[in-house]
Amino acid sequence: MGGAPEPDKAEYPVLNFVPKGQQIEKIYQDRLRQFTSGGQYEKQNLRGQFILDTESSTNCIKLEHWPAPNLSRPTFDEAMKGTYSPSEVGVMLGPSWSTHWFRVTMTVPERFKKYPAVEFRWDSNNEGLVWLPDGTPVQGLTGGGERTEWKFPKAWLDGGKHVFYVEVACNGMFGNAPGGDSIQPPDPNRYFKLSTAAIVAPNLEALALYVDFWILTDGAREFPGDGWEKHEALQVGIQIMDAFIAGDQESIRRCRKIAQKIIGPLVDSSRVYDTDKETLVYATGHCHIDSCWLWPFAETKRKVCRSWVTQMNLMDEYPEHRFTCSSAQQYKWLETLYPKAFDRLKEKVRDGKFQYIGGSWVEHDTNLPSGESLTRQFILGQRYFQSRFGKRCSTFWLPDTFGYNAQLPQLCRLSGMSRFMTQKLSWNNINKFPHTTFNWIALDGSQVICHMPPSETYTAGAHFGDVKRSITQHKSLDNDKTSLLVFGHGDGGGGPTAEMLEKLRRCRGISDTVGVLPRVKMGNSVDDFFARLEEKIAKGSDLATWYGELYFELHRGTYTTQVNNKKSNREAENFLRDLEYLATLASVHNRHYKYPKRDIDDLWEIICLCQFHDCLPGSSIEMVYRESDEYYRELFKRGNDLLKEASKALKFGLAPDAKSKAFALNTMPWGRIDVVRTDPEADLGVNCQRVGDAKYAIVSSPGQGLATGMQVRTPVSVTEVDVGIFQMQNDVLTVQIDGGRILSLYDHRADREIIPRGMEGNKLVIFDDKPLYWQAWDVEVYHLETRQEIPKGKVSILEQGPLRAALLVETKISDVSWIKTVISLSPSSCDSGGYLEFRNEIEWNETMKFLKVEFPVDVHNTEASYETQYGIMRRPTHYNTSWDMAKFEVCCHKWADLSENGFGVSILNDCKYGFATVGNVMRLSLIRAPKAPDAHADMGRHTFRYAIYPHNGLSSCTVRTAANFNNPMRMAYTSAENAQNLSRILSSTVSISGSPSIVLDTVKRGEDDEDVSLRDGLPVRSSRSVIIRCYDSMGGRAVGYIETALSVAKIWKTNLLEDDLEEIPFSHTSGSSLGFKAKIVLRPFEVATYRLQLA
Ligand SMILES: [Zn+2]
Repeated sequence: MGGAPEPDKAEYPVLNFVPKGQQIEKIYQDRLRQFTSGGQYEKQNLRGQFILDTESSTNCIKLEHWPAPNLSRPTFDEAMKGTYSPSEVGVMLGPSWSTHWFRVTMTVPERFKKYPAVEFRWDSNNEGLVWLPDGTPVQGLTGGGERTEWKFPKAWLDGGKHVFYVEVACNGMFGNAPGGDSIQPPDPNRYFKLSTAAIVAPNLEALALYVDFWILTDGAREFPGDGWEKHEALQVGIQIMDAFIAGDQESIRRCRKIAQKIIGPLVDSSRVYDTDKETLVYATGHCHIDSCWLWPFAETKRKVCRSWVTQMNLMDEYPEHRFTCSSAQQYKWLETLYPKAFDRLKEKVRDGKFQYIGGSWVEHDTNLPSGESLTRQFILGQRYFQSRFGKRCSTFWLPDTFGYNAQLPQLCRLSGMSRFMTQKLSWNNINKFPHTTFNWIALDGSQVICHMPPSETYTAGAHFGDVKRSITQHKSLDNDKTSLLVFGHGDGGGGPTAEMLEKLRRCRGISDTVGVLPRVKMGNSVDDFFARLEEKIAKGSDLATWYGELYFELHRGTYTTQVNNKKSNREAENFLRDLEYLATLASVHNRHYKYPKRDIDDLWEIICLCQFHDCLPGSSIEMVYRESDEYYRELFKRGNDLLKEASKALKFGLAPDAKSKAFALNTMPWGRIDVVRTDPEADLGVNCQRVGDAKYAIVSSPGQGLATGMQVRTPVSVTEVDVGIFQMQNDVLTVQIDGGRILSLYDHRADREIIPRGMEGNKLVIFDDKPLYWQAWDVEVYHLETRQEIPKGKVSILEQGPLRAALLVETKISDVSWIKTVISLSPSSCDSGGYLEFRNEIEWNETMKFLKVEFPVDVHNTEASYETQYGIMRRPTHYNTSWDMAKFEVCCHKWADLSENGFGVSILNDCKYGFATVGNVMRLSLIRAPKAPDAHADMGRHTFRYAIYPHNGLSSCTVRTAANFNNPMRMAYTSAENAQNLSRILSSTVSISGSPSIVLDTVKRGEDDEDVSLRDGLPVRSSRSVIIRCYDSMGGRAVGYIETALSVAKIWKTNLLEDDLEEIPFSHTSGSSLGFKAKIVLRPFEVATYRLQLA
């Protein structure tokens, strides 16, 4: 080879007389929108090509209409009996919440046979469901242009008449709010226009190009500006627009070919996901259906069917489609109300396409329910899933709940779940939560892998941006770069659309063609995502850790809003504890008594349903609370009947009768001495104090026993010591009250004053309560600056002792609201003699106000303690950092406490959950007055109790006193002879001795016992057992002893689901009064369940 140059391959002209400028990027970017937008260019752009043909004449579509009467929601069979009359497009349907059925007789014209696709379109601008005449629900409709199509059977192109039904619900996806603000109370008179009922041949190629163009031009807008990919995407977009000719189908095909330069050639099928490259983003279809919210529970039952049948259709069309949904309750609704849809769902579950998840009964709140309630969420949920589908869930799924208590990881692990998915903390409006994927660790040290999708939504539109943010907003990239993308219309239901699935195919195509966008994958499951992480951790990868609660820095008003609902929840939880305990005793001591497992499950299902994350927190519309009132009425009615049956089996009555003696029944596992209120005829054989219709007596009982009357040694007194100043006194407390406020509270045991000098306790304060937007949900930090003191009330002596001294305080809150408070003190020999009680009746008619009560106390600590599920949560009393300040309102259960070494003060309550301790002021939140989404939230009459309880430092005394405060002893009536036997049964069946910090929380029968099991697909145990659940309440290693007189074959430590984990050795101690004894050791804040298998 010589040095001669190679001849040019391409001829590069020598001369150029054609000027070409550089593109003005902004103008070309803006031009892109023109291609797909509505408006003046629509007919000449791509949007104008979406439909090839349409037919809506009455010859082809005949409509007949039956409006269901009185806002009823008839079943399909009921609707078939309706009287249908002719109707037409344009008809107005209403009012809000009403149901309309349409019979559609459709004849598809011959000319439609030539089109590759033909569908029926219906848009009544509200939600709907298409039914086949045999009662099979086949397609959900959203309305308002979204999800309006039903792909009817191809055989219907035969030119014949075909009949089907459309059930129309007069509400939108987000209920019936007037105007554009969906959280405003619903308008009862909304009407919806039936705007479309038509046969349509869609232009599939034009629609495919639409998605191609959408996604690749998202790249032109959202790819990083310093890379070539953004510019390339823009050029391809421009080339497509230049190549397009309106009305020319061939030009659409050419355009799609051009698009392949960015999205690749594989986007028309699920094969696009088959490339052998590492996936970063695990996408899963999802439909967040709130079990109630801006619509009633009754509507959700239909939303479930509408949403899920639609998803099953999409699974048939898109082989890669995977759909994840939680909430056993929603599956049960489908199973009960739509059995045909449920049969189809079971097939899809078997195919691995419909993926149940979460393991809980509903997506519940986790701040407010008791520990046992959370346990039941998992027991009911996991047992349902296992019984219907053969397997339990391994991932707890709670994307939309308003904060997460510190024991959840422990409860998850004890329910067979090691993984947790949530998202809500991205709504924090003060601090940014620092992790995406991390180990979340409970009070007892148990951990779960927690993942919060970096796209920061559980209702993603499957946009280019959602996929992109899965990396750009990923906060744990040092540890792992994968993430979940949870997409699909939610809240009101619906789930993914075909368009979303098409978009994700293109996103994947882009990743494999030009790169930059993280590689998204469909076809896996959420469990696949977590399994990979677990495997990585097993191989030594570490995730960052987060200990304790996931406090949500928003929605703090949900600890208080809808006070009646919260009170019913607390009462129902307390009630079920007693019911299960007594039913267990009855079932092991009376062989004629059948443990009412089905009924008890039903009652727990009610409690668990009402703990849904928009119900118990108070963020639903008024209709929902009328429904939940009804649920609770049913619960207490059925529950009291069950309690009567159990007591009958144990040979005692709950109402007085002539032949019986009166006793007080102590179901608490510790001894108590207390004042009880009895009926006037009851004879407890001791001095009583009569006040009006009521009679008080002091009774004493061992743990789990019958309390008998005792004489009062040192009576309690009340006197007016100065004008308007009242003094109440027992042996340990002296209190001075002025106008309802505590001037002085002196503790004689500690010889110290509790109210700081110059301050007053039990001071009612009211705040202006206008959060930034979410009224029922939020109380915002600035409300604290609007504090106003309610003037003092009028005080009179109500009860003079010797068993109760009481003052009546009548306080005017405003012209429309008042509160009456009975302040009472018992003798020091009673447990209740250690605290000052406030029993309140309030008439509340305020607008956007927040009432609280303050107790300044002479105690100093930088941390206060709050009862939480199965333990204690400590939170700052100061505002050092923004994280501390964010906790200006926190959740507590039965007590909150501020203690220093050797002394402290607890505030007890019987139905409240909101609290704040700021410096030395303890402040209990009482009632709010938000006007949206329930215009009448909390208006009217309510009752509640709280108490101030000084003590010598936080100990199990506070835990027990608060439990007693919430569980007043119930009266029992029986003969003296039966009473002895009953006492023996109560005290000897099962108890826990040893460390006082161990709380025996639940006694129940084994779920799978041969005489208890419902035999609904779960294995039966050929034995009988008593389940006891206890926990360490104080946060220290605790040693205790299970004791029982039952003849025990084995004792097992189990998980919450009652799977045996470990056999516990026990001895037969003939010297002991009970007989069997087993030592147990609990970790700090451990929840431990034991199964006593009877011989
Ligand atoms: Zn929700």
